[in-house]
Amino acid sequence: MTTGMHKVLIVGGGTAGISVAARLLRKGHTDVAVIEPSEVHYYQPLWTLVGGGQAKASTTARAEAS
Ligand SMILES: Cc1cc2nc3c(=O)[nH]c(=O)nc-3n(C[C@H](O)[C@H](O)[C@H](O)COP(=O)(O)OP(=O)(O)OC[C@H]3O[C@@H](n4cnc5c(N)ncnc54)[C@H](O)[C@@H]3O)c2cc1C
Repeated sequence: MTTGMHKVLIVGGGTAGISVAARLLRKGHTDVAVIEPSEVHYYQPLWTLVGGGQAKASTTARAEAS
């Protein structure tokens, strides 16, 4: 977790927030912060395959910070 001022502040580190943050970083915007209450991000679309027994639930989880 960081504190202070940032040029870009994204509220919510879900699919939309992480996608926008990654695109901004790739374009060279390094002062980007994401406010996200949970520490783990779950890739929800893969849950369908977890329910069908084709993927492990653990593969849908990633640390928000990463
Ligand atoms: C089982 C399942 C299967 C799916 N399959 C597909 C698929 O095949 N294809 C597809 O395109 N979509 C699929 N989806 C939908 C897709 O996952 C969602 O549309 C997508 O995650 C929405 O992204 P989002 O960033 O808007 O919201 P989310 O990914 O839900 O992110 C919102 C984030 O905001 C955070 N937040 C909430 N309140 C606050 C607050 N006050 N302050 C800060 N942060 C906050 C939450 O913790 C969360 O991390 C599926 C969904 C599910 C559940």
